[in-house]
Amino acid sequence: MNQKIDLLSLSRSDLQDWVEITEKRFRSDQIYRWLWKQGVRTFDEMSNLPESLRNRLKSEAALQTITLSKTQSSADGTAKMLFKLDSGRYVETVLIPDFDEEGNPWRLTVCVSSQVGCAMGCSFCATGTMGFQQNLTAGEIFDQVRAANNLSLELYGHRITNIVFMGMGEPLLNYDAVLGSVEKLVSEDGMGLAARRITISTVGLAGRIRDLAVEDYKVNLAVSLHSPFDAKRSSIMPVNRKAKTDLGALMESIEYYTKSTGRKVTYEYCMFEGFNDAVADAAELAKIVSRAPSKVNLIMYNPVVGLGFNKSSEETLNSFISRLVQDRVRVTVRRSRGQDIDAACGQLAVKYTDVSKS
Ligand code: SF4
Repeated sequence: MNQKIDLLSLSRSDLQDWVEITEKRFRSDQIYRWLWKQGVRTFDEMSNLPESLRNRLKSEAALQTITLSKTQSSADGTAKMLFKLDSGRYVETVLIPDFDEEGNPWRLTVCVSSQVGCAMGCSFCATGTMGFQQNLTAGEIFDQVRAANNLSLELYGHRITNIVFMGMGEPLLNYDAVLGSVEKLVSEDGMGLAARRITISTVGLAGRIRDLAVEDYKVNLAVSLHSPFDAKRSSIMPVNRKAKTDLGALMESIEYYTKSTGRKVTYEYCMFEGFNDAVADAAELAKIVSRAPSKVNLIMYNPVVGLGFNKSSEETLNSFISRLVQDRVRVTVRRSRGQDIDAACGQLAVKYTDVSKS
């Protein structure tokens, strides 16, 4: 049987190779712009292509995209979208607006998913409870951003400003598709976003952090740390139990990354009540993050029912910050958003997956 090729999964150079089997180079550039700048998802809309080429596309190629199933809006402006994939599985994407004092949005961040479920099994995370189900293609990742951008224009009259790979899945375990989506997000013939507005967040796959350090794309790196102690980190993040991705290996890869790129790294640190929020944790955290140019982003945890973690109190948070600042660590705090709409990573899709399986 003739298997169709998914054009939305191809890099620009792979698309050129495929189109140029029968056409001149400029035809692949036209198709690239239709797909990634105009965002069309049918071949009939590619009006400047000759009919013979459109017919070839229809018979040999496919455009594997996502379908919006549901949107939930929070009182704080956060909107969560649930998408159905070709496979029938679901992923979620969140649009998070930040407002100035006059109520105008000054930052519109999209949090995208790169996998359905996740193999990493972090014990505080709803997505981790699903296990790994599938990787998304570059097109399925890009189309989450495209849909969020349309929603942002509709709700706020502005394009999205930032993208974070912090939704479902571990992006560095779907490395090629994630970077394939970045290619189209930053391309002038695509969405034309600045790479410095894109952040890839990882649990800390040391080998892949080294790979990312030598890529052409100047995206930001965020690393989920959650504890500066090996044993404690291993107890909630299985990735830390392997020698090649334990804290020692991770910190070495981050030093390599910051030296190679000249860019800072952001450490994500979820505050779990009574687990990692003592002043002693802050003192050790300050010590290890000082090994490379960095900042620490403290996250007020959004509890997931049944996982056994609670968020720290404001008082504990303040003591923690004071201890970090004492050692001149740059600190920011991220408050949970969309608490009234299944806000924690993976919650909505987990809910839907359970329903769709029953
Ligand atoms: S926190 Fe991230 S890496 Fe860990 S299980 Fe959840 S999605 Fe996977």
